[in-house]
Amino acid sequence: MSASTQRGNIADALAVFGEVKEHEPLARHTSLRIGGPADYLVSPRTVRTIPGLLACARSLGIPVTILGNGTNLLVRDGGVEGMVLRLARCNSITAIGPDTLVAESGVPFPRLVRDAARRSLTGLEFAAGIPGTVGGAVRMNAGAHGGELANVLECIDMVTLHGDILTLPVERLGMGYRKSSFPEGVVMSAVFSLRPGDPQEIRKVTEANLEKRDRTQPVLTPNAGSFFKNPEGDYAARLIEEAGCKEWEEGDAVVSGRHANFIVNTGKASAHDVETLANRVRDRVMQKFGIELEREVRVIGREKKA
Ligand SMILES: Cc1cc2nc3c(=O)[nH]c(=O)nc-3n(C[C@H](O)[C@H](O)[C@H](O)COP(=O)(O)OP(=O)(O)OC[C@H]3O[C@@H](n4cnc5c(N)ncnc54)[C@H](O)[C@@H]3O)c2cc1C
Repeated sequence: MSASTQRGNIADALAVFGEVKEHEPLARHTSLRIGGPADYLVSPRTVRTIPGLLACARSLGIPVTILGNGTNLLVRDGGVEGMVLRLARCNSITAIGPDTLVAESGVPFPRLVRDAARRSLTGLEFAAGIPGTVGGAVRMNAGAHGGELANVLECIDMVTLHGDILTLPVERLGMGYRKSSFPEGVVMSAVFSLRPGDPQEIRKVTEANLEKRDRTQPVLTPNAGSFFKNPEGDYAARLIEEAGCKEWEEGDAVVSGRHANFIVNTGKASAHDVETLANRVRDRVMQKFGIELEREVRVIGREKKA
């Protein structure tokens, strides 16, 4: 069987579960606007099809990568092997009690924040402006302004890459600062436990948080949020700035002049440019302060062949 026939067969098998795009550039699906092609980008029609889709990928022997809104990802220039699962169509929000919302994993987090505010539910204001999806926020334990997802999450439904369907309470997700440690797999939905609040107060706090972002972050230039995690008791941005790395460049990748922990794509930066720049920054901070910065942004995919 020729390679192209084999690829066609794989695409046909995956298409039973949703839309399939072959060789889809992931630069179209990441906030940095960087990333080589996915062999197969698959968008399931509903969460119910996800277990079957993962079983299909296992039987085809292709690797699986999960994409939320691509706002915490650096996808390498050689793209991603196998199936990249995009959950944008799995996007319903349902109230299952006066203070409890269930959101499917593809719900954009800003929409969930607005939805909760409309229902006068408090607890999610910290997340105003975090541009990912519910699934990505769970995996990353997204947080800001002293709040984090773990404080409002009750449990998730997920399917592991081996096919086990699990309901896991937040205590079993191993959530810490911008990390989680539950089994590899797809978060299908998450249950949020909120509290009744004063609508005016919710609006005031949300607007203040959004205003602070606009003032301090390079919101108009493609980026992936904070590139490095804050080391214990300090701020990555402070260390990077004091190490003199602000506005360092590598191709079109630049350390933002507005917020030193943001690397921005000012034009046609490659993933290689961003990785090289990030490594230079990390090395400089290590040299100057003896502190090793850990990446918050996740790097996936293969290097581009020369
Ligand atoms: C301008 C800007 C500001 C930001 N501000 C913040 C901030 O204040 N606080 C903060 O915490 N983050 C921030 N971020 C980073 C990012 O938005 C968060 O980490 C977000 O939660 C990532 O969600 P995503 O859907 O984009 O995930 P992606 O970037 O697509 O993926 C991130 C990780 O989650 C996994 N994942 C995604 N969906 C699922 C799923 N359904 N099941 C299992 N795994 C999944 C992916 O495989 C990957 O490992 C910011 C980013 C930008 C661009």
